[in-house]
Amino acid sequence: MSTDFYREGAPALDTKAPTGPIAERWEQRRFSGRLVNPANRRKLRVIVVGTGLAGASAAATLGELGYRVANYCFQDSSRRAHSIAAQGGINAAKNYRNDGDSVHRLFYDTVKGGDFRSRESNVHRLAEVSTEIIDQCVAQGVPFAREYGGLLDNRSFGGAQVSRTFYARGQTGQQLLLGAYQALQRQVAAGTVDLHTRHEMLELIIVEGKARGIVVRDLVTGEISTELADAVVLATGGYGNVYFLSTNAMGCNVTAGWRAHRKGAYFANPCYTQIHPTCIPQSGEHQSKLTLMSESLRNDGRVWVPKKKGDDRHPADIPEDERDYYLERRYPAFGNLVPRDIASRAAKVVCDEGHGVGPGGLGVYLDFAGAIERLGKKAVEAKYGNLFDMYERITGENPYERPMRIYPAVHYTMGGLWVDYDLSSNIPGLFVAGEANFSDHGANRLGASALMQGLSDGYFVLPNTISDYLADGPFDALDETHEDVVAARKDVDDRISFFLNNDGDRTVDSFHRELGKIMWEYCGMERTDEGLRKAIGLIRGLKDEFYRRVKVTGKAEALNQELEKAGRVADFLELGELMCIDALHRTESCGGHFRAESQTEDGEAKRDDDNFSYVAAWEYGEDAPVLHKEALEFEYVKPTQRSYK
Ligand SMILES: Cc1cc2nc3c(=O)[nH]c(=O)nc-3n(C[C@H](O)[C@H](O)[C@H](O)COP(=O)(O)OP(=O)(O)OC[C@H]3O[C@@H](n4cnc5c(N)ncnc54)[C@H](O)[C@@H]3O)c2cc1C
Repeated sequence: MSTDFYREGAPALDTKAPTGPIAERWEQRRFSGRLVNPANRRKLRVIVVGTGLAGASAAATLGELGYRVANYCFQDSSRRAHSIAAQGGINAAKNYRNDGDSVHRLFYDTVKGGDFRSRESNVHRLAEVSTEIIDQCVAQGVPFAREYGGLLDNRSFGGAQVSRTFYARGQTGQQLLLGAYQALQRQVAAGTVDLHTRHEMLELIIVEGKARGIVVRDLVTGEISTELADAVVLATGGYGNVYFLSTNAMGCNVTAGWRAHRKGAYFANPCYTQIHPTCIPQSGEHQSKLTLMSESLRNDGRVWVPKKKGDDRHPADIPEDERDYYLERRYPAFGNLVPRDIASRAAKVVCDEGHGVGPGGLGVYLDFAGAIERLGKKAVEAKYGNLFDMYERITGENPYERPMRIYPAVHYTMGGLWVDYDLSSNIPGLFVAGEANFSDHGANRLGASALMQGLSDGYFVLPNTISDYLADGPFDALDETHEDVVAARKDVDDRISFFLNNDGDRTVDSFHRELGKIMWEYCGMERTDEGLRKAIGLIRGLKDEFYRRVKVTGKAEALNQELEKAGRVADFLELGELMCIDALHRTESCGGHFRAESQTEDGEAKRDDDNFSYVAAWEYGEDAPVLHKEALEFEYVKPTQRSYK
């Protein structure tokens, strides 16, 4: 194993991890954690950064419990957090279909789907809590799709042979977020939550080793201020936009997490990136966003390419026996519903071999002709109508008449800030929820599990576990004159002043685009030792150039999106390097991390459990990052070569 580019430190330990029978661990931890008396909760202040599903649910629940909460987001409304984009659905082990689902099966599928790189205890808790999430959301009035008899409807997502995905047409994230928003607004009206939109956290404040606040910039006036508290929760989403082109909203960024990392919080498994198989292919060089076509479409759509290389006939003119339904051929047991990492790589393989369709041969067909014939156009429209409309608006092609063209794109990041079982980072008082933590998905997240995890963290886990920490509070009173608060604020002022005064000539976006290309080329769907080393060199060079040549127009005391982007891209540059170092050091393939040197004879990811069955928790170091390994143990789902055949 190479130790180039990093040092190895002491192992990382999850000291809160409960033991005993797996089905009792969450109950046991909830019981052993200390509580805070309701009368004392009023004296405790908690900052929640983020108003997506994880942040809004956490802030609302902490407010309901009686804590004083300050909640932040950078959008103009908390409802515009990126969770709103989620289309396909949310998993829960309700077994409404009586098709053999159970908490244990969801647990099993998730551990296996994550390619045995997640913690069993966490995943089991997630599966247990999944059923409560649906009840909570239904009680809030979330309009899940229902069957004729009134029960909630389900569909299937990748990596599962049961139907456990609850959905609200193709707008599940939006409807869930509206539910969480109502819960949040109830607390705003009750005075327990102070909501600050259009504020960006730019620094974490640590006093005597504990997270005690944040430095924020009002994005409209440019005013910098500090917010102090007894604990800080980051629910700031994923960092897929390090690739520039991704399915994430343009504003998604890593700054909150990265600033915490620079102050000592471990960043875990940064190289685990999810590349989603069903996105609309890139259409040109000037594009800055890619669009997801929900995985739910693979319930009824069949994926194929022409058997003949370079076949440019209209798809309708290609007869059945000249089509390769390659997922059904290679993975008969799961067919079109193999997990995302497998489906993405399979698409790359057929395109690399020259069977791809559309511009540049970078596309495969997702065909609904059979479903329309079987179910009728109306039924297909009822299920997926808004997704079909979106596809047609973007491509100008009618997917009822011609198969969709799809290609993999960056979608989700399994890595994130390291947290223990209580969702506490290694900095006391700093908790992390939702996509921002490295959490429960191992090396590959199954579809419809991110919404489940965000709401599990926010509604159920964090409000229970944070009390064990807050039971020691309120902590010593602090004010803005404390030297650590002053220093954190000064760091922010200095960074802003640097960007605005730099005598540069290149736009922020041009750097971001170049970084994204490097990441996609060398740390994307397939990674090699040679490519990753090259990428590290290129990123270092690009970072150097960024600080010499970046040009940021406008001023500090006003709305200034160039300034916002400059800070985010500066952090992406550092994160990108760490992702490549993490990918380089992990000389095995697992889930979304595919090292070309480590594959089975038939081209599947080949894990190396003897050497890599650990979470890579990285500590920031000025000269080189420090790797802390947290060993993973599997008592209930024994690691095997994943098979969906
Ligand atoms: C197109 C698309 C479709 C998806 N569909 C599904 C699906 O069907 N099912 C599923 O399970 N998952 C899906 N996902 C994944 C899922 O939507 C996300 O993982 C999840 O919603 C993330 O929620 P979150 O609360 O962790 O973060 P987000 O919703 O991203 O919220 C982040 C919040 O943090 C705030 N924030 C971030 N940084 C700062 C800062 N520095 N200062 C202040 N505020 C900050 C933002 O303003 C925002 O409020 C999809 C993802 C995409 C991109």
